[in-house]
Formats: sequence, structure tokens, C-alpha cells
Amino acid sequence: MKGTLFLIVGPSGSGKSSVLMELKKSHPEYTYPLSATTRPMRPGEKEGDIYHFYSHDEFKQHVERGDFLEYAVVHQDHYYGLIKQPVIEALQRGEIVVREVDIQGFESIRNAISKEDLVTIFITAPNQEELIERIRGRAPIDDDELKKRLVSMRAELSKARECDYLVENKNGALADTVARVVKIIQETRS
Ligand code: ADP
Ligand code: 5GP
Repeated sequence: MKGTLFLIVGPSGSGKSSVLMELKKSHPEYTYPLSATTRPMRPGEKEGDIYHFYSHDEFKQHVERGDFLEYAVVHQDHYYGLIKQPVIEALQRGEIVVREVDIQGFESIRNAISKEDLVTIFITAPNQEELIERIRGRAPIDDDELKKRLVSMRAELSKARECDYLVENKNGALADTVARVVKIIQETRS
């Protein structure tokens, strides 16, 4: 394969989706493959933008057909899976492919994609209080949901050292974080 898959990972609230949204705007030449999820669509989201929204039955059918590069239950709640074919085809065409997945996705993908074709970037925040504040500030969330994210958070943070790059998304410095990610992508490819 000639392309490179850049996986963005990190705890909930660190800013992974924000980084991806900014990257999409500034670098439309990169490939942003879709995942599928069984979670309900949030206000403002569109089918086929970042996710395909599947029912449990639809998701199961795609699992049985082998359509996912990986899939997992995230935050003990909903299924998420990265759709395989577009990723493999984009890598074969030599493209820069960027996607966020949770830490289970990271574990599966590093066993599925050869080391030379994969770069992992861990996005973190200054501290856990800040992560909680960002999660609360993003959208209303009940205590149960927050607790599930805190459980995932511990697992996510323990994997930071296994990633190729660690990028701190400092408060109010999203543009710097995006610039750092772009630099990592460009340096890897040059
Ligand atoms: P994740 O995808 O990692 O769960 P999000 O991208 O949804 O995180 O970000 C969580 C919240 O933090 C959002 O409300 C987002 O606007 C905010 N946020 C992102 N980056 C920063 C930053 N550098 N400083 C302050 N708030 C941020
Ligand atoms: P959200 O529902 O907030 O968009 O995402 C919740 C979590 O699911 C995030 O940690 C995100 O990284 C993860 N996620 C998104 N897409 C995938 C995927 O295709 N596979 C896996 N394993 N996790 C994903």
C-alpha cells in the first residue's frame, strides 16, 4: 500500500472531533472515511457525513458480511465500526486517510494494517478536570453517561504511550493543535 492511515485517538472531550472538523475544512484533499454507528443521530448531524446510522440489525448484517475493518461497543453503549473497503481502496491509491476511533478500534487496526501504513496520534487535554468540563460544555449529559465516559477515559489514557505522537490540545488553542497534526501528516509523507 502506498497511502497512510492516520488514526486520531484519545479520551472523550479531548477534541478529536473538533480537530477532524477543522482538518476537513483546511485539507479537503485528505480522505475521511465513514464509520457506522447504532447511536441515535444528534441534532445537526447528517446521515453519511461522518457516520452511517444503522439499526442493530443492519449493523449485525454488515458485521456478518465482513464490511468493517474493526468494530466495537464504545462507552458500554453503542456499536461503532470503520467501514473497510473505502479505507483499503484509498490506501491503495496512495491517499492520506484520517479517522478517529476509540481505543478498541486502535487496538484492532494496529493488528490489521501494516506498521508502515499506520500513524497513531493521541490527542489529550491539560488534565482530567478540563476533559470533564469540555464534555459537560459540549452538550447536556446525565451522570450515568458521564460515568461511562470516565471509565473509558482511564482505558484511553493508559494507551497514550503506545501511540506514535502525543498532542496536547491546550485550552483555546485548537488551531495550534490542528497545525501540529498537519505537521505530523506532512512530515510523515515527505
Ligand atoms: P472528542 O471528539 O475528543 O470527544 P470534541 O471535539 O467533541 O471531543 O470536544 C469536546 C468539547 O471541547 C467541544 O465542546 C469542543 O468545542 C471543545 N474543545 C475542543 N478543543 C478545545 C480547546 N482547545 N479548548 C477548549 N475547548 C475545546
Ligand atoms: P461520538 O458518538 O461522540 O461521535 O463518538 C464516540 C466515540 O466513538 C469516540 O471515542 C470516537 O472516537 C469513537 N468512534 C467513532 N467512530 C468509531 C469507529 O469507527 N470505531 C471505533 N472503534 N470507535 C469509533
